[in-house]
Amino acid sequence: MSRIIVMTSGKGGVGKTTCTANLGMALAKSGQRVAVIDADFGLRNLDLLLGLENRIVYTAIDVLAGECRLDQALVKDKRQPNLALLPAAQNRSKESIKPEQMQRLVKALTKVYNFILIDSPAGIEMGFRNAIAPAREAIIVTTPEISAVRDADRVIGLLEANDIKAVRLIINRLRPAMVEAGQMMSVKDVQGILSIPLLGVIPDDEQVIVSTNKGEPLILEEKLSLAGMAFANVTLRLQGEKVPLMDLSAPPEGFLTRLKRLFDP
Ligand code: ADP
Ligand code: MG
Repeated sequence: MSRIIVMTSGKGGVGKTTCTANLGMALAKSGQRVAVIDADFGLRNLDLLLGLENRIVYTAIDVLAGECRLDQALVKDKRQPNLALLPAAQNRSKESIKPEQMQRLVKALTKVYNFILIDSPAGIEMGFRNAIAPAREAIIVTTPEISAVRDADRVIGLLEANDIKAVRLIINRLRPAMVEAGQMMSVKDVQGILSIPLLGVIPDDEQVIVSTNKGEPLILEEKLSLAGMAFANVTLRLQGEKVPLMDLSAPPEGFLTRLKRLFDP
């Protein structure tokens, strides 16, 4: 049976799309057949993060309108053939698609893909309802900020009301030094408020911005960055493996050797 997971948050800009792109690519790399769906109609950007923007011909809307077949709209990743993107239309509003239509699209995808990740838009309106309609699991993404955590809490309630029971948490953009200085909520603080199982913690890492701009998920890096390792761990936990949380305050492996090379070539 396919796993259908919505990536959601309530608040915008906390890293839903970043997490979808990285988990999608990492799952595909580990041998799973993965479809990622951009459910952010109107403000799509999952295609950019995956570097697939130039290869979009059709979108989910064209499939629903009967203007193309589903497999024609799917953009297959050349680097990782196990990964496919179902793009959203850029020029349509969130009202142009209905929850039942999303369910139909996802049902068709389950025939081929065993992981389906749905990148939800911000908010709790129509776009959010479309994104959660087909999902059986949810990953809540939040940053350790009170406004993001409060929105996440609200969304968790809505997911429960919609019968999505497997809800897990990613805390994104953690800055250990700020937590230590008492200037940022800790993992424990956030977990204490939301009380759902923790899937992982992603550090605030400038490599995320580099990877976004390149259209290359972190997992494709030759030498994994700290955030890249954190995403790799989340991917393992999602597949049922027990991986301890990383100590984010420690420099990434290889950091000292790189430093040494710089100063002592
Ligand atoms: P959302 O989909 O929730 O709106 P995005 O994934 O688009 O959020 O991320 C918003 C911005 O935050 C992007 O510019 C992204 O590069 C940046 N970002 C996300 N996660 C991290 C991180 N762990 N470290 C640094 N920057 C990040
Ligand atoms: Mg987004």
